[in-house]
Amino acid sequence: MRPITLTFDNGPDPEVTPGVLDTLGRHGIRTTFFVVGNRLASARAVSARAHDEGHWIGNHTWSHSLPFRERSDDAFVRAEIDDTQAVIGDLAHPDRLFRPYGGQGRLDGALTTNAAAHLEKGGFTCVLWNAVPGDFKDYDGWPATALAQVEPLAWPLVVLHDVHAAAMRHLDRFLGTLKDRGFAFEQAFPPDCVAIARGRATEVLATGVVSDGG
Ligand SMILES: [Zn+2]
Repeated sequence: MRPITLTFDNGPDPEVTPGVLDTLGRHGIRTTFFVVGNRLASARAVSARAHDEGHWIGNHTWSHSLPFRERSDDAFVRAEIDDTQAVIGDLAHPDRLFRPYGGQGRLDGALTTNAAAHLEKGGFTCVLWNAVPGDFKDYDGWPATALAQVEPLAWPLVVLHDVHAAAMRHLDRFLGTLKDRGFAFEQAFPPDCVAIARGRATEVLATGVVSDGG
């Protein structure tokens, strides 16, 4: 069995997230939802349900407006990270999961030195990714893209989004296909996608791939 980890970013969405939770529940799959702070503030019940059903809730910035590569002054970094963590409150995973906004999935520069230092000091776990099939722009084609992306990976960590109903229509069939192909769903993250673990920088951060590349 090959491990695979799924994550859902940019929600919660009161219209779309419940259906995603229904589908994951039918398949017995637990994942992580990286939520946007200003969305969580108005749709907390949806994320509370995800938490109650065993999914992990992570921080995906307050505004999802600018990648840190484009703005990394202290005030912005603190507001994007800390305000979101505050509103997540008791739904937070103990490892204080955080995922930067990449901007179309770009990894380079997704985490600048400023943000990395703030995440380390705050004891966060910074979770990146290795597969972005583009469900946010290719509502019907993303499953095929995803299957091609995950095939060569030892442990894929796939970024999906629980905000586009037209894309999530295909989730059930996608999950079935992954099972047919021998994938086993893991909730934990592949180590080579974790840049900071509970406040400690890992080799992933040290390589510089995400530190200041963009
Ligand atoms: Zn995002």
